[in-house]
Amino acid sequence: MTSPSPKPRAGTQRPSLLAQIKVQIGAPPEYRGTEIIGDLRGIAETLFYPFKFVGFWDGQTGNHLCPMKEAGKDCPHGTDIGVKSSYATTIEDEMAGELAVEFPHADLTIYLG
Ligand SMILES: [Zn+2]
Repeated sequence: MTSPSPKPRAGTQRPSLLAQIKVQIGAPPEYRGTEIIGDLRGIAETLFYPFKFVGFWDGQTGNHLCPMKEAGKDCPHGTDIGVKSSYATTIEDEMAGELAVEFPHADLTIYLG
């Protein structure tokens, strides 16, 4: 008996193996936590030392640290909110990422590996 062969990886979605961590700030609305990527990177690295920054996804703009772009190739991710999962796959496969640290107040996810 043959089982269905696995689908080709390119273009397919698969569940992320990254540990999903949410860092929520409970504060009155007049006190907003920092939304600066460099700040939140430092916070994520401090919270989960010795893990190090390997990427980020900005949910407001779709901006992200793209290893493909850095290597002079085209970005396969795009900037739509819905493609964040394809970026997470890249983080796992190309950047050895292990943690996805989400800061909901800033709509920003920092990836650590
Ligand atoms: Zn990209």
